[in-house]
Amino acid sequence: MGSVQTSTRPQTSISAGDLNALGARIQGTILTADSPGYDAARTLWNAMIDRRPAAIVQCATANDVVQAVRFGADRNLLVAVRGGGHNIAGNASCDDGLVIDLSPMKAVRVDPSNRTARVEAGATLSHVDRETQKFGLATPLGINSTTGVAGLTLGGGFGWLSRRFGLTIDNLLSADVVTADGRRITASESENPDLFWAIRGGGGNFGVVTSFEFRVHPVGPQVFAGLIVHPLAAARDVLAFHREYMRRAPDELVCWFVMRQAPPLPTVPVEFHGKEILALAVCCSGTLEEGERLVKPLRDFGRPVADMVGPQQYSEWQTVLDPLLTPGMRNYWKSNEFVEVTDGLIDVLVDYAMRLPDPQCEIAFAQLGRAVGRVPSDATAYGHRDAQYVMNVHGRWADPAKDQQCIAWARDLFNATTPHATGSVYVNFMTEDERDRVKAAYGNNYGRLAALKKKYDPKNLFRMNHNIQPAA
Ligand SMILES: Cc1cc2nc3c(=O)[nH]c(=O)nc-3n(C[C@H](O)[C@H](O)[C@H](O)COP(=O)(O)OP(=O)(O)OC[C@H]3O[C@@H](n4cnc5c(N)ncnc54)[C@H](O)[C@@H]3O)c2cc1C
Repeated sequence: MGSVQTSTRPQTSISAGDLNALGARIQGTILTADSPGYDAARTLWNAMIDRRPAAIVQCATANDVVQAVRFGADRNLLVAVRGGGHNIAGNASCDDGLVIDLSPMKAVRVDPSNRTARVEAGATLSHVDRETQKFGLATPLGINSTTGVAGLTLGGGFGWLSRRFGLTIDNLLSADVVTADGRRITASESENPDLFWAIRGGGGNFGVVTSFEFRVHPVGPQVFAGLIVHPLAAARDVLAFHREYMRRAPDELVCWFVMRQAPPLPTVPVEFHGKEILALAVCCSGTLEEGERLVKPLRDFGRPVADMVGPQQYSEWQTVLDPLLTPGMRNYWKSNEFVEVTDGLIDVLVDYAMRLPDPQCEIAFAQLGRAVGRVPSDATAYGHRDAQYVMNVHGRWADPAKDQQCIAWARDLFNATTPHATGSVYVNFMTEDERDRVKAAYGNNYGRLAALKKKYDPKNLFRMNHNIQPAA
């Protein structure tokens, strides 16, 4: 254990000669500080993170990844792996070390007869949805189309389809992985099943995934979906109704919610622009008739100020929140998980929603349960399947002068909700300063993960992540 390197400082500098030699062995591109495109390539979704790697290897093939991993391992470099660069903690980059950037590898190939899709690790959600929807198929992914498939999947992955079809990892059939010693292996139920278990939730701790194979399901092309907006003052009644109604609703229906200030959308009455609201985000992935019938009670309840629900293309619904989640803002998140949204919890949420420190800050609740919870908690590394709701306090703002105020608001709200929470947390929502929550994120699965980390990455080469320490 003593020899395991956990520092985020690099061990050696990288010589130009070594980089030239690496460049001769790969099809992709190597960027250093003086290369055109270096700044764009090192920029992450979260503008709070500003790191300057010594070199960025933009991989074009799985062999490029092998070469880059061996290069980093041989020189004991600090290595970061980049999929979509969305991770809030900024783990896709590092100071002074080597970034293995998968973003040029975006190919998606759908096999409609077998209902599978092969996805390269640099693809974003939009690439997958676009290709699978050509065949009226989809797999559960997240709600912001520019998110990377790789990081999302390796942490678990959930979205509008998860109550029906499970987490993204529950639809993962196999993955091609480059291990810390530079081998290319496949992880599936039949090949390296221990690694397959670990990568389904264990993040990037166990190797670099170069491609994923997913099961896909008939979805759409239209779903019955949209937003129902209420004044925040109605939140207690609306969420109490939501709680009871969603208990009985079928798996096809999901209803997330968000508390924020209303953006100036033409569909929201002008007098509510900039006012605190509760928005229900509802999606039924069954037939449109079913959707209309199932969503009706949610639309009829109370006196919504806007109702934007109706049939829409699934691929468009997957991008509908993109304008609120653009890259380049300062972001600080805090996340808790809940089995129920109780009245006491609602009171805390409303209290903090009345004190939003910036118009871009919001409190978002994703709804899980059903198919997610039918998988045993020890079947994959992602174990906290009892959680019905995942809260994400989105501290989000533009002006660095507001850092302290927005971060304090997010932390205070998180602390105030903690007595209502399960104690577990989704690794993909953890910020840079939450390394102490890694064990809580994995619960009873942590010990097995640490043993597998020792087997697959004993020197902790892959440590720019929510790190699982190799077992002693
Ligand atoms: C706006 C926004 C919306 C989101 N919505 C959702 C949502 O609806 N549902 C959900 O589940 N999550 C959601 N997330 C969280 C998201 O799943 C994580 O941020 C995830 O890490 C993003 O993946 P990425 O590839 O873009 O990240 P990156 O920052 O590129 O990587 C994240 C981590 O994964 C590692 N990694 C990346 N690629 C590989 C690879 N090929 N092999 C091994 N390790 C790799 C990185 O080293 C890093 O540690 C959202 C995030 C944002 C910013």
